[in-house]
Amino acid sequence: MTSGAPVRDSGFDDFLDALADGDGYYLECSNGHGSFPPRRACRVCGETDLEQRTLPSSGTVETFTIVRVPTPQFEGETPYVTAITAFGSVRLTGIVRDVDPDSVERGLTVEPSVERWDDDTRRLTFEPR
Ligand SMILES: [Zn+2]
Repeated sequence: MTSGAPVRDSGFDDFLDALADGDGYYLECSNGHGSFPPRRACRVCGETDLEQRTLPSSGTVETFTIVRVPTPQFEGETPYVTAITAFGSVRLTGIVRDVDPDSVERGLTVEPSVERWDDDTRRLTFEPR
C-alpha cells in the first residue's frame, strides 16, 4: 500500500477537470445515445464509435433521494440530497448543494459543479440555477 495522493481515475478525473473549467463534455454514439465518460461503448446499443460532445450548461433533476442517515464520510452534512439529473441525453449523479432538501422536486434546473474535499478527492455536485 502506498499513501499520499489519491489514485487518479483518468477518465473520470479528466471529466471533472473539464467540468471545473466550465468545459464539460459527454460521449454520444451515432444513434444519439449519451454516455457519461469514461466509456468505450454506448451504454444503450454498444456502439464503440463515440463522439465527444459539449455538456449542456444546465440540466434537470429526474429523481432524488434525501439522505438523513449519513455514511461516516458525510457525517454532519445531513440532510442532503443526492440526485440523478438529465443533461441532454446523458445522466449525472451527484449531491445538490445550496438548497433546502425539502424544496427539491423533479424538474428542478441545476448547474454542475465540482467540489474539492478535505481528503483532496472531488465530487460532482449540482446547484439550482
Ligand atoms: Zn448508442
